Amino acid sequence: MLRIALQSKGRLNEKSVELLREAGIGIEENSRRLLSRSSNFPVEVLYLRDDDIPQTVSCGIADIGIVGLNEVKERNHPVEVLQHLGFGRCRLSLAIPKYLEYTGLEFFQGRKIATSYPGILAEWFREKNIGCEIIEIAGSVEISPSIGLSDGIFDIVSSGGTLVQNGLKEVETVMESDAVLIGTCGLDEEKMQTVNVLMSRFRSVLCSRGKKYMLVNVPDEKIEEALKIIPSMKSPTLLPLADKGWSAIHAVVDEADVWDKAAELKKIGAEDILVLSMEKLII
Ligand code: ATP
Ligand code: MG
Repeated sequence: MLRIALQSKGRLNEKSVELLREAGIGIEENSRRLLSRSSNFPVEVLYLRDDDIPQTVSCGIADIGIVGLNEVKERNHPVEVLQHLGFGRCRLSLAIPKYLEYTGLEFFQGRKIATSYPGILAEWFREKNIGCEIIEIAGSVEISPSIGLSDGIFDIVSSGGTLVQNGLKEVETVMESDAVLIGTCGLDEEKMQTVNVLMSRFRSVLCSRGKKYMLVNVPDEKIEEALKIIPSMKSPTLLPLADKGWSAIHAVVDEADVWDKAAELKKIGAEDILVLSMEKLII
């Protein structure tokens, strides 16, 4: 039985549970206990604070876990990063009060920086040969310059709205982060087999996100042109229509491109464009 650690509540919880569910792994949701077992896959789920996930996986209490790469780097426990999962995207940046002129990295020499990520920041400044005083605080990092606790902050940024609200400007990005699947180093072969099944399902789920299935009827003489507009994954699916001289093309298209591609196809004489949701793309 493989044990996976997930964040019990917070920004990554919902998306982690959704990823498992879309990968066909049923877990009881309403009776959410600290530990719950899947009804249809040899896995049990351990719900934890995200701070504790790297250590729990590192020492083998959980075999794998889903957590932000930022936490993995900050906690610095030896674990294997097995797969990037693409959600929970954010960056860790340095920010200073917006009225101050930023003169480059030297600005931070001898300054006080407040953060909940002292490990990542200390290593970065060490690499850059800048000496500054790191003040570790657990939360509300963004208010520390205005209350005189620090000269700047190092914190998670996604849209940047919180920085602006607090009169700060982002001046350096130190790292990019997303949720990652981590594993205990040196998992045995049996567990690794289950992990591989899981990772391959995750890959399929992630691959089908943001994709649509498009069906379009085109005159035969326009097939080549149409295939330039909607290139297929391997070889195009082409089906002759009952109407002579016409064929149907089936293709998987990025959702973001659907409207542009449909307009281009119509321009070359395509008709009856159908766009369908894509449940799974098993790769
Ligand atoms: P816990 O109670 O489990 O310790 P937390 O309060 O430390 O949770 P959350 O705020 O739930 O953490 O964030 C979890 C992770 O989500 C972060 O470590 C980061 O990887 C990611 N994340 C993505 N965008 C943001 C954001 N805008 N703010 C904070 N975290 C973000
Ligand atoms: Mg936390």
